[in-house]
Amino acid sequence: MTTHSTRMLIIGSGPAGLSAAIYGARAGLQPIVVQGLQPGGQLTITTDVENYPGFREVIQGPWLMQEMQAQAEHVGTRMLWDTITEVDLSGPPFRAIGDSGDVYEGDTLVIATGAQAKWLGVPGEQELSGKGVSACATCDGFFYRGKKVVVIGGGNTAVEEALYLTNHAPEVILIHRRDSLRAEKILQDRLFAHPNIKVAWNKAVDHFVGDPLTGGLTGVAVTDTVTGEKSVIASDGAFVAIGHAPATELFKDKLALDESGYIIVTPGTPKTAIPGVFACGDVMDHTYRQAVTAAGTGCMAALDAERFLAERDFAAQQEKAAV
Ligand code: FAD
Ligand code: NAP
Repeated sequence: MTTHSTRMLIIGSGPAGLSAAIYGARAGLQPIVVQGLQPGGQLTITTDVENYPGFREVIQGPWLMQEMQAQAEHVGTRMLWDTITEVDLSGPPFRAIGDSGDVYEGDTLVIATGAQAKWLGVPGEQELSGKGVSACATCDGFFYRGKKVVVIGGGNTAVEEALYLTNHAPEVILIHRRDSLRAEKILQDRLFAHPNIKVAWNKAVDHFVGDPLTGGLTGVAVTDTVTGEKSVIASDGAFVAIGHAPATELFKDKLALDESGYIIVTPGTPKTAIPGVFACGDVMDHTYRQAVTAAGTGCMAALDAERFLAERDFAAQQEKAAV
């Protein structure tokens, strides 16, 4: 068992954690990033990224994350491959225990464990992911200009995604397993009033249908939950919008979480209720959930961590001088 100590401990190696690392390293905090089971985060499971600023051409998600990690290492970040299984937030120092048995101690802690889209778990979903099946309309909607798309779900996210997709697709079908939506009324009103959106009520998705030649999505096979009738809804793109699960299991009973499990921060900041503990990226943001917003809040977390340490060090010096 090894103990790794740092001025800034970062859990998570997606855009939020790596951006915090870049800023923390350049501030001389010698950050440690514990990478977790998905080094590079969610963007490593996608292909085309067209909305991360700085690149004229379409770039690949895994490549972007490799570059981000290389940049973080170049300025002095230590990347460690472990998964945190337990945290003690009674510090500083804040302590985290890894799957390996190693202990990580940080004078500040940046939580950047992200969130994962929930999937239906039906045949074809993972196979056609990135080839027609997506969980992010803001990310992938642009690729369906002039095409027919479906959105699966009945909550706020599904309705917002359906409305967003009308910017690109002339025909959007919302597939929902019941006969009423749980989305807010104002969103429902907008959805029902939109001429390009139809709702397929009482339809449970059985599987996604791919074209054996092109390998792309051609439709969604559904069963009517009332009549039992089976059919295929033709579609070029399918957006699964049945919710997200933030990776906050570790922080239950230790930090305040909202009703969906996201870490609650002081609005407009990455500050949690514990001084010295910061949360950034998708783990505290159920609204925007983009790489660039995750990177932005990662930067904010590092700047606030640096200020926290400077104030603490100054107070300690004053105390020492007064003795
Ligand atoms: P994540 O990227 O989720 O990273 C979380 C990190 O935390 C991972 O490294 C994981 O290993 C680590 N972790 C979790 N638990 C632990 C633990 N216990 N111990 C240690 N480490 C842990 N956004 C865009 O802007 N443009 C796009 O085109 C785009 N396309 C997308 C396509 C797909 C298929 C998906 C799923 C998402 C897409 N997004 C896109 C959204 C974007 O990927 C996320 O908003 C962004 O990655 C969030 O960054 P994050 O750093 O907060 O978290
Ligand atoms: P959600 O409210 O949990 O809704 C999930 C939807 O997906 C529900 O309609 C559910 O159906 C359906 N669903 C779940 N599992 C399914 C499955 N296996 N097969 C088929 N359908 C399934 O999730 P969300 O829409 O992502 O919202 C999460 C939270 O964020 C909510 O609190 C929401 O209010 C909030 N949010 C707010 C805004 C906003 O304020 N603008 C925007 C987005 C999200 P049932 O209805 O049948 O259960």
